[in-house]
Amino acid sequence: MKALYDITPFTLLDFPDTPAAIFWFAGCNLRCVYCYNPDIVFGVAHIDEEEALAFLRRRQGLLEGVVLSGGECTTYPHLLAFCRSIKSLGYKIKLDTNGMRTDIIHQLLRENLIDYVALDYKATDSKMSEICGGGSEKRFWESFKAVRKSGIDFEVRTTFHPELLSEEDIITMAKTLKRRGYDREYYVQLFQGGMKTIGDLSVSNHRIDYEKLAPYITLRP
Ligand code: SF4
Repeated sequence: MKALYDITPFTLLDFPDTPAAIFWFAGCNLRCVYCYNPDIVFGVAHIDEEEALAFLRRRQGLLEGVVLSGGECTTYPHLLAFCRSIKSLGYKIKLDTNGMRTDIIHQLLRENLIDYVALDYKATDSKMSEICGGGSEKRFWESFKAVRKSGIDFEVRTTFHPELLSEEDIITMAKTLKRRGYDREYYVQLFQGGMKTIGDLSVSNHRIDYEKLAPYITLRP
């Protein structure tokens, strides 16, 4: 079955301490207005699993990991079987996810198919629809709880556009994370203009109050 929109053959930036490839899955269950990947979200997969696995066989000994990104890889109906095949080749797997498919995350964790998770904390519940076109904060927390309880390495991150989220929102989110036992770095990446986005967003003129946010977040370029 066609699984991927594209493959990035090599990255040192996306999987901590792990030279990796990125598998970009087509499709997503959200529609974030700031999404930089509308081509992938609305696109059609044209690389099949066997092609992707053949790529990994050729890279054995050169790469150590695979980042499952997109789009939203948990919407791919054969993800578990695909992950089993990737693991059988000796690769570590990092999951990039919006956390809306807690059921799939549970199954991946139960089978020890993933080694690292980057979990997107999109917004407080009242802003989820406006920013993401759907989804729920409750679902994010269910996924957060599952990942945290599993003991695997993970991070939480948020994309910040000052016309969508305020500094107060970020502080509220940071405090909620802490209250729920998150004791790692909370990464916030700033929206970058100049790229096509789902919501056709421009860069805001609003100045971000770094000083106010500094005690709560780690800024990621
Ligand atoms: S930013 Fe939103 S719409 Fe884009 S891939 Fe991630 S979850 Fe999907």
